[in-house]
Amino acid sequence: MASNPSLVMRIVSASVAVSNRASNIIRNVLTKGDLGIVEKGKNDLQTEADRSAQRCIVASLHKQFPNVAIFGEEDELTRRYLAPVNKPQYDSLSSSVPQWTPPKTLQLLDKNQNWQLDPQEKIPQDFIEQGFDAEVLKHTCPEYLKDTKDEDIVIWVDPLDGTAEFTQGFLDHVTVLIGISVRGNAVAGVIHQPWYNFDKPGLPLGRCLWGVIGLGTYGFERETPPADKVIITTSRSHSDRMVTEAVEACKPDEVVRVGGAGHKVLLLIEGKVHAYVFASKGCKKWDTCAPEAILHAVGGTLTDFHGIRMNYSADVQRKNTGGVLATVADHAKFLNCIPEHIRDVMDKSSEAPPLDFKEVIVCGGADLEKAKKNEVSEKTSSPPNQNAESTAPKADSKSTSATVPNDNANTNTKL
Ligand code: AMP
Ligand code: MG
Ligand code: MG
Repeated sequence: MASNPSLVMRIVSASVAVSNRASNIIRNVLTKGDLGIVEKGKNDLQTEADRSAQRCIVASLHKQFPNVAIFGEEDELTRRYLAPVNKPQYDSLSSSVPQWTPPKTLQLLDKNQNWQLDPQEKIPQDFIEQGFDAEVLKHTCPEYLKDTKDEDIVIWVDPLDGTAEFTQGFLDHVTVLIGISVRGNAVAGVIHQPWYNFDKPGLPLGRCLWGVIGLGTYGFERETPPADKVIITTSRSHSDRMVTEAVEACKPDEVVRVGGAGHKVLLLIEGKVHAYVFASKGCKKWDTCAPEAILHAVGGTLTDFHGIRMNYSADVQRKNTGGVLATVADHAKFLNCIPEHIRDVMDKSSEAPPLDFKEVIVCGGADLEKAKKNEVSEKTSSPPNQNAESTAPKADSKSTSATVPNDNANTNTKL
């Protein structure tokens, strides 16, 4: 274990552990068979799996890091759990969220008593994960994150990304997303895929991927997409004319329509697609924070349709109203494909003051050397990104867990 692990590494480690627990909870809900589907809004569902996984993740992380702000998709639940100190009531899905500064301490309703989130509702004991993932703690925190304090951090939780597909049986589209932002920048992320390997009996079901910008990524093998064609991924359940027009403008040879922002970024980093193009205001901060951090950690880029990176500070609106464009390379090329009239419809995101990524390169030296030895650059013979993040190091793509490369090209398997 790295001596005296930093706050960021402890949060990543706890997030890996709790994502495993949440993944079990999600699978159990399906096994029991009662999904408890609720319609939150138009084309926007919530199930018992979303609710239970959110309770598990937020309760566990909040217990371990009581002074860190945590926002989850199913916040209607957590808002009852956390004392609303100076916190106005608002619709978490509305695009016009009033500005508010999180209190220094998000107090528990019953801070000095036994863990109990809501007087009416006890969280089942097996929903509380207090463990840390030992593998994560073996790694040393990048220098630029070492002094990060509680108040610098916001954790964005999507307890179940791809709910529509979950209810329809496209289980391999489902992911659990825990993104960690520091002063508005997505810096670390955990993506858990509960039904990975569903089609390979005998192999462990599910996998966890994690990464920290400047340290590396773990839990998957990075692959390069084919050089002789253009493959674009986009939404399968939230599509409309503009979404399709933006995809078509990139002149794809193939379009892969799958569920979940997390799943689509997995397709990117595993070399199945070249770009994730979503000309819509429907994606939220909890959808993109973890995927953005992991994508960025391997040298990719996620921005709005103006090329601006998302801001994950506590006071930002939840919706990504500038659209989502994610690439492993050639970001500017795809950005330029987007027709002007679509760009005009999309808002310009407010960028967070960038962290000092020069420091990332200095502290990431050992990893960069290792990455070079592993010939990551040879495998990924793509041109450098032409964007603000092109100075970020290519990260270590070696997996620390016993996963097999995902050779399941059928990304639309209904279980
Ligand atoms: P999709 O690619 O359709 O799975 O969307 C990625 C994420 O954004 C999922 O968590 C969706 O729930 C969310 N999302 C995208 N568009 C919408 C929308 N129009 N309404 C509600 N949620 C959306
Ligand atoms: Mg989602
Ligand atoms: Mg969700």
